[in-house]
Amino acid sequence: MKFIDPHIHMVSRTTDDYQRLAYSQCAALSEPAFWAGFDRGSANAFHDYFRQLTEYEPRRAALYQIRHYCWLCINAKEAENVSLSREVIAMIPEFLKKRNVLGIGEIGLNKNTRNEAIVFQEHVDLAMKTNELILIHTPHLEDKYKGTRMIVDMLKGDRRVQPHRVCIDHVEEHTVRLAIDNGFWCGMTLYPVTKCTAQRAADIIEMVGTDRIMVNSAGDWGRSDPTAVPEFILEMRRRGHAEAIIRKIVYENPLTFWKQANNWQDWEA
Ligand SMILES: [Zn+2]
Repeated sequence: MKFIDPHIHMVSRTTDDYQRLAYSQCAALSEPAFWAGFDRGSANAFHDYFRQLTEYEPRRAALYQIRHYCWLCINAKEAENVSLSREVIAMIPEFLKKRNVLGIGEIGLNKNTRNEAIVFQEHVDLAMKTNELILIHTPHLEDKYKGTRMIVDMLKGDRRVQPHRVCIDHVEEHTVRLAIDNGFWCGMTLYPVTKCTAQRAADIIEMVGTDRIMVNSAGDWGRSDPTAVPEFILEMRRRGHAEAIIRKIVYENPLTFWKQANNWQDWEA
């Protein structure tokens, strides 16, 4: 079955991973801007990173017939530095017209601090002024619920935000309703060591249904598996779910969300 991985950090992966994704029928993926494992020293480093996401990585993916999209921001971890964040936010508009950019992301909270919240809201303001989609990272720590609640409250507090143009990622059993019941899209991250397993994701689907929900691998420089979405497909098949239901979650839903991007160019798959 063809699938889309809507959240994977390919700059951290080898070309062999592109090959594995292609062999397992990955048609397209999107790569949110995130933390590199260390704090970058200047806005110039982000400028280079944005060029990597918008110029180099799409070419590497194309060698394996995979469509590469991306999201731009300064991640929540480095957002603790507000002045650096403002420099980075100021340079995002020059990249927004690049063909593969879907919007602003993954913005969010890490430790739920005041500075993170300030930078989060300034990203949302940029997205509203430029009519961009938003992809949201929710904290992985024990305060995931609190952080997700803060994020939903900030989004609800901005009247310009249309929930169907926002995806709240890394939801789990205790946060999925916060996203879906407030009209947002949501993503479940399948991770071998932390976050959600394929089995838990299938349980959640059986609880909340298949509307406005998708799954991703979040493959990055840590322990993670770029073929986590095919693993989820297998789990759903083992449980006897119809092919059309599975395809909706792993293919049609992310595509429907992406198609709202303001510089979207259609493609037949
Ligand atoms: Zn991520």
